[in-house]
Formats: sequence, structure tokens, C-alpha cells
Amino acid sequence: QVPARAFRVGCDNMLQGLARSLRCLGVDARMLGNGDDHRRAAEVARQEGRIILTSGQPFHKLRAQVGAGRCLSVDCSLKAQQQAKAVLKHFNVRVTHADIFSRCQACNCDQYLKVSRDMMKQLMWLSSHQEGPRSSGDKTTLSQEVQEPGPAPEAAPGGCTYDRPCRWLQAADLRAETPDMLTNGTRLQLAGVPVGVLRTPGLRHFYCCTRCGKVFWDGSHLDRVATHFRDVLESAPSPREPSPA
Ligand SMILES: [Zn+2]
Repeated sequence: QVPARAFRVGCDNMLQGLARSLRCLGVDARMLGNGDDHRRAAEVARQEGRIILTSGQPFHKLRAQVGAGRCLSVDCSLKAQQQAKAVLKHFNVRVTHADIFSRCQACNCDQYLKVSRDMMKQLMWLSSHQEGPRSSGDKTTLSQEVQEPGPAPEAAPGGCTYDRPCRWLQAADLRAETPDMLTNGTRLQLAGVPVGVLRTPGLRHFYCCTRCGKVFWDGSHLDRVATHFRDVLESAPSPREPSPA
């Protein structure tokens, strides 16, 4: 069996949905360049140790380049999630609860920064107020007080929370003059966070992708993925740890 996080694939153009589905499950899924250059795609896949997922005519060309065991033809008439299941089964890939959302669906990056609910509230406020040409000297800074843990977290409604192993976002990770931009130049996609989410009971933190800035949070979306893929998820260890006292 191959652990999901060690499984690397290159998806052909027509399989974008599949790539997103696989990333949801922690698989390193890269899109293979565009167009007809199959030789180049095969070269990239070989260099990076990726299995090629493709369909139709390109399959024959790519298989000729990389060999039968390194290339799979995916049924394009299936939905992305069905395709993902077929791929996982074919290559005997093991997926655990910890793998869910361990990669950004949008860009395949696996480096997140964790943001507390209060910090997120403040970031959203700052970014919605930075448009106006404020006079100089009125620098927006992150106050310290919001970093306090606040009231004890309630249990999430679905009971489905995952504490991913990543570090907390700190004020030093953000550019002083643009509070919604990481120092690496990635702008956090705060507009994608509905204000109502901030009031979700039990929601403790958000995860920001350090490459594309997409913001994720635990909740119904995550539960949905876990439900869709429950037959491929390894059932053994519960993701919920007993809270210490
Ligand atoms: Zn991303």
C-alpha cells in the first residue's frame, strides 16, 4: 500500500477535476503542462516520479513514453470523485482522515498557516478598510490582544475537526503595509470567507494556503469530503483525540 501523501501523479489537461479531488485526499497531483507536448509531459512525470493520469488518445502516446505501469487511462465519463476512487484503488493508495485537505485543492501546495478565528476577524476587517486613502501615520497594525485564546472552544457540530500540523500565522508573516499579504507576496483570499463563517459555533481556526492564499476552514465541506470518500478512508484511527481534561 502507498500512503496518499507519498503518491504523486501528473494529470493530463482533461482531468482537472480529478486533480482537485485527489488533492483533497492529500495526493500530490500536478497538472501536466498544456497541449500536445506529450514527450515533455512524460519527461516531467519521470523526473518527479509521477504516475501519469490521462484519457483517450493521449494515453497511448504517453504510455509509449513512460511504460504501462506508470500511466493510467481514466474514464472521462465518470465524475471526478469516482475517477479519484478508481485511481486510488488501482494503485492501492491508503488514505487516512489526516490526509483530507492536507493539500490545497487549488494549487497543490501543502504548506498552510493556521489562523485563529479572532485573527481572521481582524484580517478581514483590516482588508475591507484598507481601500480608502487613509492619511499617513495611521498604520494598520495587528494588536496583541486579539491573540488571546478567548473562551473555551465548543465542540464542532459535526464533531469533525482536524488539527493540521502547521504553524500559526504571526504578524511577522504579513506585510506591514498590506495586512492581507504574506511576506512571500501571496495575497490571502479573504473575500472567499463569508462573514457568517466567523460565527460558526466551534470553529476555531482557518488555514491559509501559503502559495495561492486560499482560505480553508473545518466544517461542512470537510465533512462532505469525508462522507464521499468514506469507503476509501482507512477507518481505524479516529481523528478525534480526547481533549486533555
Ligand atoms: Zn493553494
